Amino acid sequence: MEDVPDNAPEHCPGTKSEQAGKVSACQGCPNQKLCASGAAKAPDPAIAEIAVKLSTVKHKILVLSGKGGVGKSTFSAHLAHALASDTTKEVALLDVDICGPSIPRIMGLEGEQVHQSGSGWSPVYVEDNLAVMSIGFLLSSPDDAVIWRGPKKNGMIKQFLRDVDWGDLDYLIVDTPPGTSDEHLSIVQYLSSAGIDGAVIITTPQEVSLQDVRKEIRFCQKVKVPIIGVVENMSGFVCPKCKNTSEIFPPTSGGAERMCVDLDLPLLGQIPLDPRIGRSCDEGRSFFNEVPDSPATKVYHSIVQSVRDYCLNRATEEQSAT
Ligand code: ADP
Repeated sequence: MEDVPDNAPEHCPGTKSEQAGKVSACQGCPNQKLCASGAAKAPDPAIAEIAVKLSTVKHKILVLSGKGGVGKSTFSAHLAHALASDTTKEVALLDVDICGPSIPRIMGLEGEQVHQSGSGWSPVYVEDNLAVMSIGFLLSSPDDAVIWRGPKKNGMIKQFLRDVDWGDLDYLIVDTPPGTSDEHLSIVQYLSSAGIDGAVIITTPQEVSLQDVRKEIRFCQKVKVPIIGVVENMSGFVCPKCKNTSEIFPPTSGGAERMCVDLDLPLLGQIPLDPRIGRSCDEGRSFFNEVPDSPATKVYHSIVQSVRDYCLNRATEEQSAT
């Protein structure tokens, strides 16, 4: 994995590269000597700092998807809402979807800003036990295009993990960008010592979405992030009036169900399309409160219970291993 410092020049080969400090892009870079000497190949000290910072966070969960628009942020937001509905639990949602941060809108926090305190950046609170941090809070307008190069994104992710005053948490949910990009590598690298409990992977039923999800699964296996399971979103449409079900996105290749059997992964649930989900997200409200008895809400709750059970089992396994 290439590592690129925050102040790197354009076309930086990365501090771990054999070319570090030796190519034309390195000319004039303040780190050139350090890189050329090989000393920069040492692990980023931020990894250990993040492990200390997050030692008071019991469970760290990544939410991943192969493609955009499949409902990943909606899922992350509602996983956070559902876990925080147990008021004895402290929950935080971190949005590192740096190029399209939609969490502020979904959580009803548009226009909010992050405050600086003595102990770091303070997240924004939706409930007493539900904190949110998003790149969106640092932009002057929600329409600001965030076109950042790798090093800057990397630095921002590092800051989110190391410099936010998360406090004691039961769950930290990280909403990642779609695909497998620099941001994923950064997150996995920075959380390598702090430990990731696992990832929930979101897909829709069509083969175009599943194709990219298989890449995401291979990525998790390669970087050794355990997969909690797969969620198939927009899986059929239940008419809110007549309750009939129709397939809007037909699972031509067997959908997530077949993929999970083939790859021996748990299918956590299949959430139907429900226009009320889109509406309540646009209005920044949890649809669990808006439509508590919808089929989608029921599936969501059962998925969240599986995630809770997974985390509990993992904690028990870890305890018995020590
Ligand atoms: P992603 O994070 O994968 O890019 P979003 O969570 O932003 O996707 O969701 C994309 C759009 O789909 C949003 O408008 C959201 O409200 C809507 N949406 C997500 N899941 C559902 C669903 N099950 N039924 C109806 N609309 C949904």
